[in-house]
Amino acid sequence: MKNKSYEHNIFNVGKNFHGHLGPFLVLGLKAGKLLLEKIGKNPLTSVIVAELPQKRPFSCFIDGIQVTVGCTLGKLNIFLHSGKGIKIYYKCNNKIAILVVKENILKEVLHSVKSKEEMVKESEKIWSSDSSRLFDLRIV
Ligand SMILES: [Zn+2]
Repeated sequence: MKNKSYEHNIFNVGKNFHGHLGPFLVLGLKAGKLLLEKIGKNPLTSVIVAELPQKRPFSCFIDGIQVTVGCTLGKLNIFLHSGKGIKIYYKCNNKIAILVVKENILKEVLHSVKSKEEMVKESEKIWSSDSSRLFDLRIV
């Protein structure tokens, strides 16, 4: 899963599915990749509960999660709830991972969505960031 072509491919699949490149989409892709690394992938039996503001650009995050984790609106195994920041509960293989996007990162990306150039630059920065800079993660 760590090879270059997989990384390149998932980035492009995400961008095409979502229809544009933005930092919240990329945060969702990164979060999904981390969740799979930690507790695995099972798109038919896993479930996501996502707490986040029910508006763009926050909701763009959800498309990144769907593309990577495979919990989708079509399969009715992703549930959206209102929240202040971005918090994800991922249940897979009898484990639950709880992922939170760090507050300073949310501030950073919100600042970048004011212009298209900034958005693309920020998206690339997020994509090449270490996950530990972006998220707090707990397995229960
Ligand atoms: Zn978007």
